[in-house]
Amino acid sequence: MYSMPLFRPPSEAGSLIVQVTEGCSHNKCRFCYAYKCKQFRVKSQKEIEEHVKWLKSYYYREPEKIFLADGNALCLKTERLIELLNYIKSEFPTARRISSYSGPLDLLNKSDEDLKLIREAGLELLYMGVESGSDKVLSMVQRGVNQQQMIDAGRKAIKAGFKFSCMIISGLGGTEYMEEHALESAKVISAINPHYFSLLRLIVEEESELAEDIRQGKLHLLTPLQVLDENIMMLENMELEDCIFRANHVSNYVSQAGTLNRDKDMLVARLKKFRDSGNFRPMGRDIL
Ligand code: SF4
Repeated sequence: MYSMPLFRPPSEAGSLIVQVTEGCSHNKCRFCYAYKCKQFRVKSQKEIEEHVKWLKSYYYREPEKIFLADGNALCLKTERLIELLNYIKSEFPTARRISSYSGPLDLLNKSDEDLKLIREAGLELLYMGVESGSDKVLSMVQRGVNQQQMIDAGRKAIKAGFKFSCMIISGLGGTEYMEEHALESAKVISAINPHYFSLLRLIVEEESELAEDIRQGKLHLLTPLQVLDENIMMLENMELEDCIFRANHVSNYVSQAGTLNRDKDMLVARLKKFRDSGNFRPMGRDIL
């Protein structure tokens, strides 16, 4: 069975989720309540074998894609992760892709050689929540790393041969850091040039520390129009090559998809059209 709650990136909707760790080894981001109820831990081989047995009894088809949960399976020791990848491949031989979340510190703490070995062992796609490129915003939300570390981590993953996906949270800097968040995030994503870039919108969970900051007036949420202005500023300042861009999460006011920089002008023009017409998705709840 799974230890709940369980999360995966939207693009892993059809993947078999194999839970090799529980929680997040960082677990300090002020906007994130995902794993606050879980103590981070690495599962033993015996537990994983039982978990795989259970998955096989419930999963009705041979999986093509596997996602390793929870928050950052890449934090496992290199030898252990390779052992685990070999075990998972032998149990699910039809899987053609294995992916996981990766924290920037997980990447920075591993040598280039270790990352190459992990890649060769079958971990193909890594997701990293950059969240913001601004040092001020990263520090405010206690992301645990700064802008340069985020860039170094991303470049290191790509150099080791991983397919790499980065996420930014639109509105994370509030009105206080709106412009800085847009420009510095564009700078970091451009410097990494990931294979995939997703833009989500901040939805604050009631129990998160960020919700308390908002209640205390330390941070002010963007209006929908400000979110679109911020998105436009961010996209206009991105310099990317062959990066698949998605902003089609349920949180986004305007659903967007394209390849950057090729489709940049079209994506920006489309955002401006929706902003100026006011004809975008009705507001969801900003605080859950
Ligand atoms: S945002 Fe990611 S790194 Fe930060 S606490 Fe949540 S799961 Fe952990």
